[in-house]
Amino acid sequence: MIKFILPISLIVMMLLSCGEEPKNEVKMNNTVEVNDGVISYEEYEKPEPTTPSETEYYEPKVPVVTPAKGLKAPSDAIVLFNGTSLDHWVHAEDNSPAKWIINKDSSMTVADKTGDIRTKEEFGDIQLHLEWKSPLPVQRDGQNRGNSGVFLNGIYEIQILDNNDNDTYVNGQVGSVYKQGSPLAMASMPTGEWNVYDIIYHAPEFNDEGGKTKSATVTVLHNGILIQDHTEIKGTTPYVGWPKNPVHGKGPLLLQDHGDDSRVSYRNIWVREL
Ligand code: MG
Repeated sequence: MIKFILPISLIVMMLLSCGEEPKNEVKMNNTVEVNDGVISYEEYEKPEPTTPSETEYYEPKVPVVTPAKGLKAPSDAIVLFNGTSLDHWVHAEDNSPAKWIINKDSSMTVADKTGDIRTKEEFGDIQLHLEWKSPLPVQRDGQNRGNSGVFLNGIYEIQILDNNDNDTYVNGQVGSVYKQGSPLAMASMPTGEWNVYDIIYHAPEFNDEGGKTKSATVTVLHNGILIQDHTEIKGTTPYVGWPKNPVHGKGPLLLQDHGDDSRVSYRNIWVREL
């Protein structure tokens, strides 16, 4: 008899549960847990809050940051270039001191054919701010007009290019994840005026076998306009070939000397580690 009762009771319970409304399993607690810097609500059963204070919390305190103002970086940023020196930078090819030109207006300019420069420091997830300017007078066309770029982790290029009245392949135009993701808009200032890139970058993750378990992502604001919206970076950004996925940890930020006398200028470069 018991043999039959148990299965029948289970079937009845299953039928009843099919008709139930899904329960709201996540209840907010007015305490929080901090796990690897991520604040999460503890899940537990509790009646619906009936007072405002039940959904308000005061710890942990949020750090106070003095915002950027003009050419001054936020108070918690690592300043990589403010016009005074290139101490944070070396040439990518041989690690020699960076030989790009420092100008009187707190900017620097690519010195012809001296090669890419990279930061001495290495970074993972970051918020990056940099300002760049295409050179005047305008020279050449397509990819050979004011071409530079910022390489996240040293290997993923966000394109910098003078695209004003200068078409090229859209996945290689200004603001693209080079040859992977077109920008959502072309938001450049007129040639010779300063542009701002604000970039949020999350590095990829790899397992012990060398397989990628999570792609890098990038969000880019170009002069305040969203042009990359949490875009997946599929791998490296070569001129020829498919993206590759070498295993890596933290890496430098790299600025490109495109090698064609594209005298792009930079100023006010700072980074906040996330
Ligand atoms: Mg480039």
